[in-house]
Amino acid sequence: MKSSEDGTFAKGELQHFGPIELNPASGVLNYGQGLFEGLKAYRKEDGSILLFRPKENALRMRMGAERMCMPAPTIEQFMDAVKLTVLANKRWVPPIGKGSLYIRPLLMGSGAVLGVAPAPEYTFLIFVSPVGNYFKEGLAPINLIVENDFHRATPGGTGGVKTIGNYASVLKAQKLAKEKGYSDVLYLDSVHKKYLEEVSSCNIFVVKDKIISTPATKGTILPGITRKSIIDVARGLGYQVEERLVSVEELLDANEAFCTGTAVVVSPVGSVTYLGNRVEYGNRGVGAVSQQLYSALTRLQMGLSDDKMGWTVKLN
Ligand code: PMP
Repeated sequence: MKSSEDGTFAKGELQHFGPIELNPASGVLNYGQGLFEGLKAYRKEDGSILLFRPKENALRMRMGAERMCMPAPTIEQFMDAVKLTVLANKRWVPPIGKGSLYIRPLLMGSGAVLGVAPAPEYTFLIFVSPVGNYFKEGLAPINLIVENDFHRATPGGTGGVKTIGNYASVLKAQKLAKEKGYSDVLYLDSVHKKYLEEVSSCNIFVVKDKIISTPATKGTILPGITRKSIIDVARGLGYQVEERLVSVEELLDANEAFCTGTAVVVSPVGSVTYLGNRVEYGNRGVGAVSQQLYSALTRLQMGLSDDKMGWTVKLN
């Protein structure tokens, strides 16, 4: 769907997946004026389809749009477009336990602009793709390297919104880490260079003596929807959860650590390497808390447990 001059979006339509036309002078191609979202649709045991907290994605896109000087679809338009796209592709939603349908909404400055400025026109689109389970055989721990030379975000920057440029800045750090055999990079804050921020595409949690801590989202960290959900699930299970500054030393001294995100769901951290020292966590990283939270969240997402919070949206 495209924006009109007053910044509202006209009703969109379904199209077959394929290349789109884009003005070479568009705001997104030249100045990175683009935002995206990521959410999943799961198949229930009875064959029906569930979305997990889609309104949160709509709200996050609207918050990001404000930072990026873009108009955004209303919550209702966003939800309707997600539902329409998923229902049109329902045959691609894998059976329960075999994965999910990943949904990628994109909002971009598609109008032409020569000097640095917001574009005069915007396009909102959604594409989908089936994805397998992140872990094929149960939980597999990830190995992180703590990065001190590269930063993902700075105070006052765009780290707190899901803009495309944030991902451009992590490509090199991630490539170097993978070449050295690590799964991903954990970034530190760019001011003190000692507080945890997040991984390239997920949030981080640290567990010490049954207390769960995660960096507070103060503009440099993406407020993950899985993060927010896990905080509530953990509190519901009786854990104390703290959102605050968490230092890299606390991570090295933790009993266990895990990452959260739409793609990774809950991923235990097997090891962390910082300044050349590698710390390995017990049970190859698959700690009891990570396991319990993974199971509680995935059961909810697949409609296998009672959705007391009203987080899932049934589609058919
Ligand atoms: N941080 C970053 C940088 C991300 O790209 C993502 C994935 N969207 C997350 C955290 C986790 O967010 P969510 O739980 O909403 O997927």
